[in-house]
Amino acid sequence: MPGEGDPNADLMFVGEGPGRDEDLQGNPFVGRAGQLLTKIIKAMNYERRDVYITNVVKCRPPNNREPNPGEIEACQAYLLEQIESINPRVIVTLGNVAAHFFIPTRSGVTALRGSFYPFNDILIMPTFHPSYLVRNQANRQLRKMVWEDMKKVMAYLGKK
Ligand code: URA
Repeated sequence: MPGEGDPNADLMFVGEGPGRDEDLQGNPFVGRAGQLLTKIIKAMNYERRDVYITNVVKCRPPNNREPNPGEIEACQAYLLEQIESINPRVIVTLGNVAAHFFIPTRSGVTALRGSFYPFNDILIMPTFHPSYLVRNQANRQLRKMVWEDMKKVMAYLGKK
């Protein structure tokens, strides 16, 4: 499945691409990173079904490598159509690949996170990829930063 959630969601999450678990199940963010994303969404006082979750690329790149520019370009129109049809107010990008889809810069997510970036009439909030948090469990600072980013999103959306 190329994405899931509320087709009228105000809030959209965009990841990189399906991993092994997602490929097997056909849904985005269902593995370990997905479980952490679900926790983040719940902490924001939403359910997964209230938001829309998708990825930059819709097919799993071999050996879990990052999608290459050609693969991103091949899926670009699909993601742009999803955004146009859902028309969210905020898109949270998870990790560098998703951030760079919307924000043309060489800066990484560590530098970008914490601020909104306009994309048409949508605001982009870049934050760390949940897989990165899972890989760096010991670094509680990372989770704190993601939560700060999500609080900004909640404030903008008037979510309590
Ligand atoms: N990582 C992603 O970027 N997307 C998924 O759907 C799962 C893991």
